[in-house]
Amino acid sequence: MSEPVFGIDLGTTNSVIAVVRDGVPTVLDVAGAAIVPSVVGLDPAGTLLVGAAARNQRAAYPERTISSVKRRMGSDDRIRLGNRELTPPEVSALILKELCRGAAVATGQPVRRVVITVPAFFQDAQRAATRLAGEIAGLDVVRLINEPTAAALAFEGAEPGRERTLLVYDLGGGTFDVSIVTTDGELTEVLASHGDVMLGGDDFDRLLAELLLRDVDGADALDAVAKARVLEAAEHAKCRLTEDVAVQVREEFLRGGSSPLHLDVHLERADLEELIDPLIERTLDSVHEALTRAGRTLSQIDDVLLVGGQTRTPRIAQRLRTLTGVPPRRDVHPDLCVALGAAIAGAQAAGQSTGRVLVDVTPYSFGPSALGELDGRPYDECYVPIIERGTPLPVVRSDTLYTTVDDQERIDARIFQGESADARHNLLIGRFWVDDLPPLPAHSPITFRFALGLDGILDIEVAEPSTGQTKRARIDGATARLGPDQLQAARERTLALWAEREGGAEDEPEPAAADLAAELDDAPDWARELRALAMRARELFDRMSGDDREEAEALVEDAFDAIARDDESLAGRLHAELDDLVHYVEEA
Ligand code: AMP
Repeated sequence: MSEPVFGIDLGTTNSVIAVVRDGVPTVLDVAGAAIVPSVVGLDPAGTLLVGAAARNQRAAYPERTISSVKRRMGSDDRIRLGNRELTPPEVSALILKELCRGAAVATGQPVRRVVITVPAFFQDAQRAATRLAGEIAGLDVVRLINEPTAAALAFEGAEPGRERTLLVYDLGGGTFDVSIVTTDGELTEVLASHGDVMLGGDDFDRLLAELLLRDVDGADALDAVAKARVLEAAEHAKCRLTEDVAVQVREEFLRGGSSPLHLDVHLERADLEELIDPLIERTLDSVHEALTRAGRTLSQIDDVLLVGGQTRTPRIAQRLRTLTGVPPRRDVHPDLCVALGAAIAGAQAAGQSTGRVLVDVTPYSFGPSALGELDGRPYDECYVPIIERGTPLPVVRSDTLYTTVDDQERIDARIFQGESADARHNLLIGRFWVDDLPPLPAHSPITFRFALGLDGILDIEVAEPSTGQTKRARIDGATARLGPDQLQAARERTLALWAEREGGAEDEPEPAAADLAAELDDAPDWARELRALAMRARELFDRMSGDDREEAEALVEDAFDAIARDDESLAGRLHAELDDLVHYVEEA
């Protein structure tokens, strides 16, 4: 039998790992629990903690504890942990390693291949960062799938042959997603998704914490530990208000000394509801938007599925019921169904029969920019979407663009994600050049072929038909946005932390070290020279400041990027710029 592919729900607050065993999707316990808090920390002795142990120390050591890293995925943030600085994917890699270690113990099999879920509304950079987290953890991420899609996969109940329209409402700790899904018991198709990557239970907690401190003198001056305690108390109160109509929140000695500060506040469920109603309203706007995109109306919804821990707050089911007229279903476990669905998708990827077929759609359009007309005027950054939002995945689409001048030597292919006719208002997700075109008259055709996979990875091929000259690029961000050096450095940072916890760095293999050496040995001269120059520039960072340093860092990053993309012509230009910069700094 082929090696199993595990399913991972890498959540903002909690994470879960599952696998299909004997045809049954099963959640695996990690350190005795199905749900692993997505929290990483260092204990007072400097040892790495992941999961419940890290969460338990959060209130006492907020400065040594990292939560909700998912919200920072895709950003350039550096997160301090003790005396180290980690990127968001590195922190997520530690959570993944913990999940995989638990799953390996539970199944007696190593975990190498995984499907990881992401919010449907995650942008390319966030998806790439998630994939990268898997790579740093040494995993083969066979697919990323959208969380509501996974939930819908885990949902059973539609009779074969009878199509139902589902509204999957997923409100977790940090993100909100809604999807309109059809299922006939076998085929599950996501018609449209919409959401908000900055809205979740954490926001409920924050509002409640503000309310708890509203009448407290000197609340602004509370230290980080006291603030973390109030936030924790707010979350606790919020969860209790799911069962009870009123709670008393008490936190003693928020401030010690001569004027001690104690918190003692009576809260009613109605207080919470008044606070969170505007946030729920925002989620309902997304429901309308998703329905419009799916071409469905409220009256066509057969089932409402609640996903994510935050949907336990009764107000949410109430509002959805009022809106749709359908009582939301709770038979799919809100905390586990995403991982269970990911396990089903994993089994599909491993070639096992699951009796279900998944069709997903792209939440964005993708295409290059070109010279054209915008608002009746010539404009050189018109957006040409080649794959339209809402297209079922996987998809391959081609389109023809035209050269603009006689004997044009090269094409600057700028690839965007978004919906605006003005490419500049969309997200630039990749750029490369097609060089050394043969002499051609203006308006000669150039074909663009876009292939977008279920995991959101975009392969692009640009071809000049008369000569067959072709240039290929992959925008998966994971390998393309980080050069091999940077990936190796990221792995080393996380492995070092992991190994210390496991008791000795020397025991831990360094999987990429040999590969990297081989990769660089085989690399062409231009790549090795550029890499050496980039390393030299990097050593000089400390001698630069302000804009100079920023420019140098960007150049070094672009240089690794050019090597990773095998883009020799870009590398040539970067080499010249880096060379100037190194000379300038060394001689200064
Ligand atoms: P998830 O990201 O799906 O794990 O959801 C985590 C969010 O669900 C956090 O904001 C929790 O505070 C919230 N949550 C968990 N249990 C409850 C509950 N019983 N009532 C209200 N919110 C809850």
